[in-house]
Amino acid sequence: MIYDLHTHTTASDGKLSPTELVDYAIKKGLPGIAITDHNTVTGTQEALEHSRDKPIEIISGIEISCDCENKVKEVHIVGLFIDHTNPEIKKIKETNKEKGKIVAKEIIEKLKQLNYEIAFSDLEKRGHFGKPIIAELLLEKYPNDFENRKDVFNKLLGWGQPAMVYGKGLSIEETIKIIQKTGGLAILAHPGQLREYDDYFIDKFIKLGGDGIEVDNTYNYLDNAEELREKYRNICKTNNLIASAGTDFHEVKDYSDLGDRGVNEQEFLKIRHKLRYKKVKSVGAIIHNDNKFLIVKKTAANKGHWDFPKGGIKNKETDEMHALHREIKEETNLEIEVQPNFYEELHYKYINKKHDYDKTVGYYLAKPKTKTFETKSNDPEEIEECLWATKEEVYKKIKFEDSLEIFNRALEQLKLSI
Ligand SMILES: [Zn+2]
Repeated sequence: MIYDLHTHTTASDGKLSPTELVDYAIKKGLPGIAITDHNTVTGTQEALEHSRDKPIEIISGIEISCDCENKVKEVHIVGLFIDHTNPEIKKIKETNKEKGKIVAKEIIEKLKQLNYEIAFSDLEKRGHFGKPIIAELLLEKYPNDFENRKDVFNKLLGWGQPAMVYGKGLSIEETIKIIQKTGGLAILAHPGQLREYDDYFIDKFIKLGGDGIEVDNTYNYLDNAEELREKYRNICKTNNLIASAGTDFHEVKDYSDLGDRGVNEQEFLKIRHKLRYKKVKSVGAIIHNDNKFLIVKKTAANKGHWDFPKGGIKNKETDEMHALHREIKEETNLEIEVQPNFYEELHYKYINKKHDYDKTVGYYLAKPKTKTFETKSNDPEEIEECLWATKEEVYKKIKFEDSLEIFNRALEQLKLSI
């Protein structure tokens, strides 16, 4: 049971459409794949919709080309579990396309000197400006000179070859930040391709807060793949990083097919756990009182402040349940009963005057034991935003469909237990 966490569709330079890729992965018996198109998320929605009610999990991903600091031809960072609807993620395509066009023009110039004529307008017609597309055009135009796309790279576009141009893109730091801001994990893709600079970039990536490394990828260089796998696995262990893996599937090749590389179920669960741990930076509670809901949250698991009027965690108080009880009692004079069997993540747009949170919050479900309610806050706006809201008001603030389901499930539970 292999989860292939690096695949491409026709949304970038893959050969299969998102729908075809999902079908192919099901045919191959894979439990899940991550769609990680180059600098774009345009294939994700189709894949997600097509996978609905099918025995496969689609992980929303991206592969972002970063600035390589003129050390290697390209540095790629894969984002896993990202929010593909995020405007910043969507914008990457345009930003990097512009940078890609500059690189493509430089390559075309170099090719010209080598007597290979490729027109920039041909790239424009394809809508892509990456090296794989340039390789494809060369293959079509000069079929006698090259055996396949890989051969074009070996002779012209690849590392150290005469038409090689350094890649340009967002900085590594910007890339990690964008991925993490959308709730995703930032994974350094195929570090083997970074050759003698792999340690340099891995070190930099770790210092900038990257989440993991692709310990296995078809393009981690085949000659010493085993040795590299070992090396990258050890780096992950030492630095508590996620060990991700995937085939970097573009199409079926004689040396690689979808699902040949990836993570097993246990490793996948570890990644999920890490994601949850990272994402659930805060906990909160939904408290129900006469068809009104009180949603409170605390900004860090064991410290920080409750986002509750005048709320705070006492210094040595590390038990969040205990803190929740005390806080609610202090602020509203309500005795609550927390239902420990309900602890779910909600994507809840939590608004107050200072912050506009848009994060995943792990919620407890609670009900008041007493009817008496009073608030110490006398700021009406604060009370309106942070305190009791109707079901409809909560609905309005919930951002994602699955969160709505969780909230509705909470309502069901409350009905049963009140
Ligand atoms: Zn890739």
